Amino acid sequence: MSQTEVTQFGEFKLIDHLTEAFSIHHDSTKTSIGDDAAVVFHGDQDLLVSTDLMVEGIHFDLMYFPLKHLGYKAVVSNVSDICAMNGVAEQITVSIAMSNRFSVEALEELYRGIKTACDIYKIDLIGGDTSSSQKGLIISVTVLGRQKPEKIAYRSGAKPGDYIVVTGDLGGAYLGLQLLEREKLIFLSDPKITPQLDQHKYTVERFLKPEARKDIISLLDRVGVKPTAMIDLSDGLSSDLMHICRKSGVGAVIEDQLLPIHPDSKALAMEFNLDPSVCALNGGEDYELLLCVDPLEYPKIQYLPGFSYVGEILPAVEGIKLKTGSGKEHPLEAQGWVHF
Ligand SMILES: [Mg+2]
Repeated sequence: MSQTEVTQFGEFKLIDHLTEAFSIHHDSTKTSIGDDAAVVFHGDQDLLVSTDLMVEGIHFDLMYFPLKHLGYKAVVSNVSDICAMNGVAEQITVSIAMSNRFSVEALEELYRGIKTACDIYKIDLIGGDTSSSQKGLIISVTVLGRQKPEKIAYRSGAKPGDYIVVTGDLGGAYLGLQLLEREKLIFLSDPKITPQLDQHKYTVERFLKPEARKDIISLLDRVGVKPTAMIDLSDGLSSDLMHICRKSGVGAVIEDQLLPIHPDSKALAMEFNLDPSVCALNGGEDYELLLCVDPLEYPKIQYLPGFSYVGEILPAVEGIKLKTGSGKEHPLEAQGWVHF
């Protein structure tokens, strides 16, 4: 049997490849793999299920990632997937595997972060599993949420003419990570040097302590807007938008000049000689939401804080494009974070 390297596939193609032979046995399975969460028929509200795996050395570096923040982020990234379905997260299970270098006190710190997130997002911890690992820490969180069937926003619902709107600001988590990585290298070369992080507290926190936009889901409900499609920005705007375009069978145009970027992130991008727009397009883990909104619905959110119009859904033939300040259009490339 020939051996194929996993890297030849990439994360999403690998998932498709491994799961394509599976059939659905139950009518209660409304949608399975391929969105931010699976949707299961469950009485008058549908059940939303999503799961995430975080591996030390791949997704986080404990040299600068405090365990409490890590626990918090592990919950938040899962809650974010339920938000992306326009749903409300209610329960989680948490499973961990750790090597013997972790003390009970260290794990208590991790669970303090998990508890803080559970308290803030009103989530019940209902189960999980623990095991030892030969090397490093592995955390897997599964989240359950609910929503009425007619309110669930899928990746597949975008139509040409829909406005593309993002919440908050973008690129911060990526730039925060760049700064932490730089300070780590400086520290490793000379442990007497204290890391310079205070100046960029906002951007560093975007990486270390992101929030899920549960507030946006409540706000959309209050003003009566249901996005035609939605996704959370975990891999980066360009690659997450591509998921929507692929599932909806549409194209899109994003306007470079309209991308919301925090002044601190902009300053940090300059310091690193990076184009802030490129960071906003390709940096992941901001956990903001990308919504597609019917233009007739858009006035209901247009002047609310936290929403930025960044482009429009186009017919598929037009492709996925980036429009620059000078009016030029280029194909948008997905260069999101790759974890393989
Ligand atoms: Mg997601």
